[in-house]
Amino acid sequence: MRTPLIAGNWKMNMTVQQAGAFADELLKNNLKEGVEAAICAPFIDLPVLAGKFKETDIKVGAQNVYFEKSGAFTGEISAPMLRELGMHYVITGHSERRELFGETDNDVNKKSRAVLEAGMTPIICVGETEEERESGQYTAKVAGQVTAALEGISPESAGGLVIAYEPIWAIGTGKSATSDDADAMCRSIRSEVEKLYDKNTADRVRILYGGSVKPATIEELMSKSDVDGALVGGASLKPEDYTALIAGA
Ligand code: PEP
Repeated sequence: MRTPLIAGNWKMNMTVQQAGAFADELLKNNLKEGVEAAICAPFIDLPVLAGKFKETDIKVGAQNVYFEKSGAFTGEISAPMLRELGMHYVITGHSERRELFGETDNDVNKKSRAVLEAGMTPIICVGETEEERESGQYTAKVAGQVTAALEGISPESAGGLVIAYEPIWAIGTGKSATSDDADAMCRSIRSEVEKLYDKNTADRVRILYGGSVKPATIEELMSKSDVDGALVGGASLKPEDYTALIAGA
């Protein structure tokens, strides 16, 4: 019922030239059908990716956005600017943005709403720190992030959202959550969405796991009923790995 999604997050990697070469290589591969592929790239790479993937089903997304539409916000990029480029997705609330750039739950909410208003889909990231996991507070922490991020978003929009559960201790560390733990947290997020909206909305929303996902682990992860896909950093940087992730999803 929910189409699986494998979203790559390139972070601050790949020059324009490298992005073009990645796209050319990826286009030589036969990507498995029935799995949605999306690449979230640095802003400067977006026009080249949008151009290369134009006639394909591969979607392109940004990794950040500012919530105002235009104005005196030096260095920022707005949602309408991204939409005009043909973007489908924008990652909001990635833990690196929260931790390194001080983004708050309120910022994540405003950014997610701006993305929706511009006709795109936010991939809203939530997740706990290692300390919160060890102290047993992780379910409450993530539920709080979900509630804050979704504030003021209508039920119609909420059903189309993507939420990525990314435990911070698993991002870029090689230390992945077990597939059962990932599934349990995705289920807990879905029940939070049901509490905030209704069962129909909760059944529609796609919930991804992110944190050191590799081609070798994707199949087991995707066998879990509440995991609808993955947000993948390191393993999305090589066309052959990304193709293998899609094949295993
Ligand atoms: C990410 O950047 O969202 C991520 C999950 O990274 P990695 O796959 O490298 O852990």
